[in-house]
Amino acid sequence: IMDSKGKSLGRLIILHDITKLKLIQNELHILANSDSLTGANNRGHFMELAHKEILRAKRYKRHLTLVLMDMDSFKKINDTYGHASGDKALVMLKNICTKNTRKMDIFARLGGEEFALMLPETPQDRAAELAERLRKYLEETVIHSDKVEFQATISMGVAEFKIHDHDTLETLLHRADKALYKAKALGRNQVVTWKPEME
Ligand code: GH3
Ligand code: MG
Ligand code: MG
Repeated sequence: IMDSKGKSLGRLIILHDITKLKLIQNELHILANSDSLTGANNRGHFMELAHKEILRAKRYKRHLTLVLMDMDSFKKINDTYGHASGDKALVMLKNICTKNTRKMDIFARLGGEEFALMLPETPQDRAAELAERLRKYLEETVIHSDKVEFQATISMGVAEFKIHDHDTLETLLHRADKALYKAKALGRNQVVTWKPEME
């Protein structure tokens, strides 16, 4: 601030507290990227994060493996124990998967009772071992809902990203889905790793 002769009188500093705005922005970001029932990443956010992981795996020639999951006979769970119980099973699966994986792993609900787990720095045999542990945890967990107690199982398909084969997120999802389909065909409640003969 100057006086009439242009001599400096001092400075006026204006500070705006944007804490609330930032908190709201963060909350909106979380809401836009997560599934409202389980709090897991939603499909859109998963696709975004998975594309980034693929770029990283290609660039630095790192292992990257995808696990696709689908709850077994979920219609029957809803019909037998009620939709709210089915919801509890989905939340239980999310808890099991996030508690037993690393921070860098990307867990998401792709829709309905279908989930994905993207595992950076992980070759497919190690991913299959982890998937098997998660499958077993769910199988052994008793889910309590209102007056009922029940158990749920899940099938999983595992596929590793292939750096030298023009692999993309779409082809990787396709292979994991083929393996998941095989797990269902073999009787459900199991982990199957993709093999070329599944095409
Ligand atoms: P499969 O072992 O072959 O996967 O059998 P399934 O019954 O799980 O197969 P399907 O994909 O046909 O059925 C999925 C069911 O999941 C149907 C739908 O009502 C239920 N479902 C989808 N989203 C939700 C949800 O948010 N909550 C509950 N409780 N159920 C859901
Ligand atoms: Mg399904
Ligand atoms: Mg299902």
